[in-house]
Amino acid sequence: MREFEYVRAREVGQAVAAVSADPAASYLAGGTTQLDLMKDGVLAPHRLIDITRLPLGGITRSGDLLRVGALTTMEELTADPTVAERLPFLRESLLLSASVQLRNMATIGGNLLQRTRCRYFRDPTVPACNKRRRGTGCAAVEGAARMHAILGASEHCIALHASDMAVPLVALDAVVRLLGADGERSVPLTGFYLVPGETPDVENVLAQGELITAVEIPLLPAGTRSTYLKIRDRVSYEFALTSAAVALRLDGDVIGEARVALGGVATIPWRVPEAEEILRGAPADLRTFTAAAEAAVRDPFTVEGTAFKVELAERTLVRALRTVAGGAT
Ligand code: SF4
Repeated sequence: MREFEYVRAREVGQAVAAVSADPAASYLAGGTTQLDLMKDGVLAPHRLIDITRLPLGGITRSGDLLRVGALTTMEELTADPTVAERLPFLRESLLLSASVQLRNMATIGGNLLQRTRCRYFRDPTVPACNKRRRGTGCAAVEGAARMHAILGASEHCIALHASDMAVPLVALDAVVRLLGADGERSVPLTGFYLVPGETPDVENVLAQGELITAVEIPLLPAGTRSTYLKIRDRVSYEFALTSAAVALRLDGDVIGEARVALGGVATIPWRVPEAEEILRGAPADLRTFTAAAEAAVRDPFTVEGTAFKVELAERTLVRALRTVAGGAT
């Protein structure tokens, strides 16, 4: 690991000013991704600004909105009673995402900014990685790819967005609060991430030094059922091959409202308005669910190792919808 200067920030504005003015500086929060990547030689900041003592934690409820400070840990959010009562699929995604030790370290802001698990990205001895260095190519497209994306992907990059928590959050229309050198702003999470295109190294809309300060999460209306289904190679300590976050409000046997997002298959947390459109007002049966799943996985970009994910993603979504609808046939 390259040597770096360590600075403990004493107030939020000081931290933002320091990182905004210095492209070689980075924030340090839970460190569960950042320090791994520094040890692997993928990241090499000259300065780390430790923000862990700043007053950016805590969960507050205002009506039907939950405000979660960026330094809230994943475990604190998991244990929140409002999350258990009104956002059960968000709680499920947190429980399925990491061990309790990691959940006690990792922060909500850091989780949203976690980097891809692509093995080529994490191995600096592999020269071809457009995400590490734009214009070098993509080793995964020709190499071993399994934990990679089929949606929002292209020959430039098929790196997966690995956050479980972000999948229900995009389905919920969560909003991130940002603070930068030019002041505060709010960005819907659905517009926060950028598909790789020809610039896989640019992953989100954050400006240099801009800091996530909080996430605002609308609560599900009472009576809405939800689930987060995660399919993976082993039942713990593993990333998703596919996942689905589903929330439905049923009016008898008819779907009144639907929210759907996919994980484990896309370069960003993948909201699926096409599927929601098919579900709204339709009977809650297998025919509807199958049509929604086919619409959700439209125009995939696959390589040899990821082709299986097309059918698996459709089956995952159908099973999640059937679970929420009470096993509809
Ligand atoms: Fe790099 Fe993306 Fe290709 Fe992985 S998939 S090697 S992160 S360009």
